[in-house]
Amino acid sequence: MRAVPLLQVENLRVTLQTARGPAVALAGLDFTLERGDTVGLIGESGSGKSLTALALMGLLPDTAKAAGRIVFDGQDLLGQSEDDWCRLRGDRIAMVFQEPMTALNPLHPIGRQVAEPLRLHRGLGERDARAEAQRLLERVHLDDAGRRLDAYPHQLSGGQRQRVMIAMALACGPDLLIADEPTTALDVRLQREILELLADLVDDTGMALLLISHDLGVVAEYAERMLVMYGGHIVESGPTDEVFARLAHPYTQGLFAARPRLGRGRGHRLDAIPGRVPELIDLPPGCPYSDRCPYAIDACQAQLPPPIEVGPEHRARCIRLPEVLPMGSGADKEGAARV
Ligand code: ADP
Ligand code: MG
Repeated sequence: MRAVPLLQVENLRVTLQTARGPAVALAGLDFTLERGDTVGLIGESGSGKSLTALALMGLLPDTAKAAGRIVFDGQDLLGQSEDDWCRLRGDRIAMVFQEPMTALNPLHPIGRQVAEPLRLHRGLGERDARAEAQRLLERVHLDDAGRRLDAYPHQLSGGQRQRVMIAMALACGPDLLIADEPTTALDVRLQREILELLADLVDDTGMALLLISHDLGVVAEYAERMLVMYGGHIVESGPTDEVFARLAHPYTQGLFAARPRLGRGRGHRLDAIPGRVPELIDLPPGCPYSDRCPYAIDACQAQLPPPIEVGPEHRARCIRLPEVLPMGSGADKEGAARV
């Protein structure tokens, strides 16, 4: 018998008010996360990755309407009170943001900020919380953690601030950590150090990690399963090895072809996917990728393709799979990781 997953997202839909009227931002997401799992969520900027994270944290903007189910440890979180969210957030579900400066308070020393969730959720006194904050900062390998407890965020480098964010997120031993592009602002060496740290922490604690990235190499190396997102839909999902072996969805193929590679200059994308991610309100009917897809036919615009089984636990939403699959280059996962 399979255990109940830690997190089960069912038909999660989010509608946002935009300047041009209401628009569907998340169009019915289904996925699960088990304890100890690292799942990669990948897609170009504007695909809906951060909104997915914010929905799981109960932090959607006021103008958003969410529907469906987010079942966490047996309990549906959608529709719960703000008090209930506050009890959960930072305690059982925690998040690391892309830019730590937006999440850290510039006016408070970092030791106090790491101690805050311990005081709030665990009722620790000042002295114990400070000692625990130091232990956490040592765990995330912040150099000279004891002395840095009284430092302010602006006195730290970007990499050090990201370590502080991770220490804060870990403070209460969350069951689920959401890392939203945690290394995008860092150079390649620091990026690797932080990702290795997160992988160690998953091994040590058994928590689940939702690792959000726009970088296929990161997902190839660190996630056991992956979700490929475009236009608020999960267009392909499956074990990372399977997805890279088949590259079923034309969008995943496009991401693979457009990945930055060594020797081509940083940030220089020779084969960028033609066209760009449309505004939500301009998404085509049917398959969201149909207006950029080289395989699209009229039927692609008629209705949203259902998820089609490609292999074990591996699905792609594409009605052209019989034509597309022989073209999937059977990509080399290690190749994607060498960025
Ligand atoms: P990603 O994290 O994948 O880059 P986001 O989840 O941030 O993408 O955004 C998905 C889409 O939702 C984008 O088109 C973005 O412009 C839109 N969006 C995000 N937040 C808001 C908001 N508060 N109001 C209106 N549109 C938003
Ligand atoms: Mg984002």
